[in-house]
Amino acid sequence: MQKTIITLDENDMPKKWYNILPDMPTPVSPPLHPATKEPIGPKDLSPLFPMELIKQEVSQERFITIPDEVRDIYALWRPSPLYRAHRLEKELKTPAKIYYKYEGVSPAGSHKPNTAIPQAYYNMKEGIERLATETGAGQWGSALALATTLFKLKCTVYMVKISYQQKPYRKSLMHLWGADVIPSPSNKTDSGKKILSKDPDSPGSLGIAISEAIEDAAHHDDTHYSLGSVLNHVMLHQTVIGQEAKEQLAQVEDYPDVIIGSVGGGSNFSGISFPFLMDKISGKKDMEVIGVEPTACPSLTGGEFRYDFGDTVGLTPLLKMYTMGHDYIPPAIHAGGLRYHGDSPIVSQLYEDKLISAVAYNQTEVFKAGVTFARSEGIVPAPESSHAIKCAIDKALECKKSGEQKTILFNLSGHGHFDMSAYDSYFSGGMKDIA
Ligand SMILES: *Cc1c(COP(=O)(O)O)cnc(C)c1O
Repeated sequence: MQKTIITLDENDMPKKWYNILPDMPTPVSPPLHPATKEPIGPKDLSPLFPMELIKQEVSQERFITIPDEVRDIYALWRPSPLYRAHRLEKELKTPAKIYYKYEGVSPAGSHKPNTAIPQAYYNMKEGIERLATETGAGQWGSALALATTLFKLKCTVYMVKISYQQKPYRKSLMHLWGADVIPSPSNKTDSGKKILSKDPDSPGSLGIAISEAIEDAAHHDDTHYSLGSVLNHVMLHQTVIGQEAKEQLAQVEDYPDVIIGSVGGGSNFSGISFPFLMDKISGKKDMEVIGVEPTACPSLTGGEFRYDFGDTVGLTPLLKMYTMGHDYIPPAIHAGGLRYHGDSPIVSQLYEDKLISAVAYNQTEVFKAGVTFARSEGIVPAPESSHAIKCAIDKALECKKSGEQKTILFNLSGHGHFDMSAYDSYFSGGMKDIA
């Protein structure tokens, strides 16, 4: 029988995260203080983050040891399976080999716990009692709620108001794992009040919710802030995905010609691709690496590479990144996890240096690809992940035309079990394309 799922033993889970910073041809530009515009130091970040994460943010060590306490929890779902998409290949009649790494097996249903767990761990070690964060559609909020409950910390999640109203089950999941969930903008913070005074009916945005969570953390000594994407330490933690995929492909004596991931802030894309990019940068191997974004929020393909705030109000350090502008409020699309105005500074610099490329798709073509995938492979993909699927399908169809037998690897970042109303909207013909 042909191999469909390629597994690793628990003991073969990575023992270190891969840090791409020392390998980057052009170093990332330093974050700047929002007021002085000078590069910030560890002290500026210490009200918000534990020292271990601040160190990881700037570390030049190529490999960083994963604490045993973190690996013990990773073991609840890692190593995650790598699938060979035999049935999708047949459906497409492509000579290409398609593999996908499935991160939907985590308790929260996405890759996000890969960083939520170490973030909660380092905060717990430093004596912090509560974490404040933001969430859009609820994937990050539920990942951090899971992580904080496992380390017995409290958790406050500022959830974008429109999602709070439209995605009741993600909110229930956060409650189940013990988090407080507050619709944002709220009147609990000055940032929230400022937005509400201008627009009492504001549907909220990720940028506004970040402002609220940061303000909450800055005003409470026992509380830190936690971010689910964009920052260097988040990209670092996600590299367990690509390291495992590399081992799994080696088992079947394969190596990808094309690597694909959806890009919101860039973390699952970094996770699947950085351990392979290491080989590309060193000249050992070559491959095409593609980030996929929605046309509704095309930071890489339609944004500018410059310093910008990470939030709407302007409380965060300035980050050099591809951005739509910090006051850009993306149109409502069903892939809520991809509605962020900026991108990881590392991913942005790699894009600027042409080590990676990017493509943007409309949501109806993305859902069509997601349905094709679900009807051949069975797994119901998250709308965010379907962006990667759409690109993988396009690449496989190119191979069909050219006759090439390329190896395509994509990251299936999460399942779509909480997104059934989005699928309903697609099937009812009510889904709209933007731009
Ligand atoms: C949050 C999320 C994304 C986008 O975030 P990145 O940091 O770019 O990975 C993609 N897929 C899923 C399932 C998500 O939950």
